[in-house]
Amino acid sequence: MTEVRIPLLKRPLARLASAMTFQQQLNLVVAAGVLSMTILSSLASAWQAIRQVEGNLLQQGLQVASSVAMQSQLALLSSTADNASDAMSAALAFPDVTRIEVRGLGDKLLAARGAEPSPSHVLPPMPRDLPHQPFVAAEDATSWLLVAPVWSTRSSSPFEVEPASDEPLGHVVLSISKQTLSRTVTGIVVTNVATSLVIAMLFLWVLRLLADRLNRPLQSLSRAMASAEQGEVQVRTSVQGPSDLQRMSHAFNRMISALQERGEELQRHRDNLEELVRDRTAELKVAKERAEVASQAKTDFLTRMSHELRTPLNAIMGYAQILEMDPALSERQRHIVQTMHESGDHLLKLIIDILDLSRIESGHTDLHPTGVQLRAMVGQLDSALQIKASEQSLTLETRCADTVPKAVLVDDKRLRQVLYNLMGNALKFTTQGSVTLEVLCQFPSVDDGPATVRFAVHDTGPGIRPADQARIFEPFEQAGDARSRAQGTGLGLAISRQLVRLMGGELRLQSEEGRGSTFWFDLPLTPTLASPMPQRAIARVTGYEGPRRKVLIADDVEANRHVLVELLRPLGFDTIEATDGQEAIQAWQEHRPELVLMDQAMPLMDGLSATRHLRQVLQAQDTVIVILTAHASAEHQATALAAGANAFLPKPFEWTELLGLIAQHLSLTWRQASFPDASPEPQA
Ligand code: ADP
Repeated sequence: MTEVRIPLLKRPLARLASAMTFQQQLNLVVAAGVLSMTILSSLASAWQAIRQVEGNLLQQGLQVASSVAMQSQLALLSSTADNASDAMSAALAFPDVTRIEVRGLGDKLLAARGAEPSPSHVLPPMPRDLPHQPFVAAEDATSWLLVAPVWSTRSSSPFEVEPASDEPLGHVVLSISKQTLSRTVTGIVVTNVATSLVIAMLFLWVLRLLADRLNRPLQSLSRAMASAEQGEVQVRTSVQGPSDLQRMSHAFNRMISALQERGEELQRHRDNLEELVRDRTAELKVAKERAEVASQAKTDFLTRMSHELRTPLNAIMGYAQILEMDPALSERQRHIVQTMHESGDHLLKLIIDILDLSRIESGHTDLHPTGVQLRAMVGQLDSALQIKASEQSLTLETRCADTVPKAVLVDDKRLRQVLYNLMGNALKFTTQGSVTLEVLCQFPSVDDGPATVRFAVHDTGPGIRPADQARIFEPFEQAGDARSRAQGTGLGLAISRQLVRLMGGELRLQSEEGRGSTFWFDLPLTPTLASPMPQRAIARVTGYEGPRRKVLIADDVEANRHVLVELLRPLGFDTIEATDGQEAIQAWQEHRPELVLMDQAMPLMDGLSATRHLRQVLQAQDTVIVILTAHASAEHQATALAAGANAFLPKPFEWTELLGLIAQHLSLTWRQASFPDASPEPQA
């Protein structure tokens, strides 16, 4: 916007004008105009009148002077003042004639009458060729000096050749005061100005009446506009005054009506919208509740299913492991048993994965960060996967940059799970070349804040087609050939992506068909002190050092008890069996075992109640109690530990896991022997 520039002098005027109402401005301008006009015109007419009075006065004076001059001829010819005396007296009788003098040639004073002349009033020298007519010889502020020449008039004789010519005899000087003139001037000016003022006042009064008539509707309109500005929509202005103002008022009223209608329509729309939003919110709430119920039902179903599947699977895998250890098996039998074990493993992984994914998706998964030594973790992953890599003639490399913090706060189990899954995939799909795990520090920690650590798994495998690159992160989506599909569940990447998100990163893929793939993600990880690394699973054992120990096995499913008995007896444990919690308590009182392997869900009295009873009522503090359960969640683990158990093991479990727990809690040293099958893999 351009600013209107007002010259410096005009600014106060402009400010004054903007501070006044329109009516005040109008009044001021009109009053000033009318006053100056009337004063000017009255002065002009006064001037005119004065000129006239002055002219008359002079005319009269000149006539008087001329008449005295005519009557002074004789006096001047005879040089006797008396001859002019009457004429002079008559002249002095005229108003304003203050003095009269009769002077001869050479300005010689013959006679004078009237007031003494003022010293300032000096008669100028008479011109040589004196005129015949009287004239104004001098003038000052108070008077005029009039001169009438006196000529001798000789009547020509009929005998003379040339006509007789006049001769100057002297002159008459008449002083006329301006008193009357100035009185008259004052009178005229005062009268004129007073009359003009009265007329101007009358005019202004009429004008004011007119302005009021104009102003009233304007003020009403202005008030109505101000109310409309405040949001008053009912306001209307009265239609009055001159026709153009009436049209303006009509237009304003129509405009306000239109605004009111529009406002009402808007309000109706808003009400509708609110109603719509309320309805939709209610619908959404119902839909959300339904979805939550459905999601809960799904989770419950999966948990139940998982429990139902784990129980028989526990027996299958247990027996498979027992058989695997039997040295009397033929090669073919061992192969069959191993296939059984592997299939059970696969099934178990599938169950775990489905449950895991459904828990993550329904927001039931919490992270449990602890201080983890990244380099040691990478080392463990390396040694766990080297055998698999060498079986496939692949090079497995793991690198952890020096800039990576020594220990960071992270959920050890979940990070391991993601890396193990990505590396497992890379090994699974790569047929030649190498698989590399690289851990780099992208941004170091500042002020004890998190560092950005990048985890990248490269392989020289078949790569993934661009069309499949987004799809494979969805549950049950697989790419590649039928053989590779059969090896997996299609859940690994879906779970990994969700877990990486939970840890604050995003799992990404860069791949070119035929040239390999890189799965990578960045995590914000806070440097910390390290917790001791979890113990590695124990390899194969044949017994233990020290005296025989008694183990009470409480499980209502006979197959499960049997598996445990078959596993533990050959190692030198005495086993006692119980089929429910009450029996377990009795058996404990009778045999005082060092270890109780307690199933959680049992008839009559469940494992948790039996544990509580043993700890609280029977003061069985020295007995190690391990709860075995097909419920695998962290909540179940927490309740088991709260009931007084020393440890918790979800079924089905790896044999080595159970041995690890027993060794830890009974402080046993295993006697080891080598068996022909492969070392165990960490649980994914
Ligand atoms: P699974 O491996 O159990 O089939 P995932 O969700 O882990 O399921 O992987 C989904 C699919 O992504 C795999 O079936 C495979 O086609 C593809 N994929 C994953 N990792 C790789 C890889 N490193 N190289 C090639 N293809 C891969």
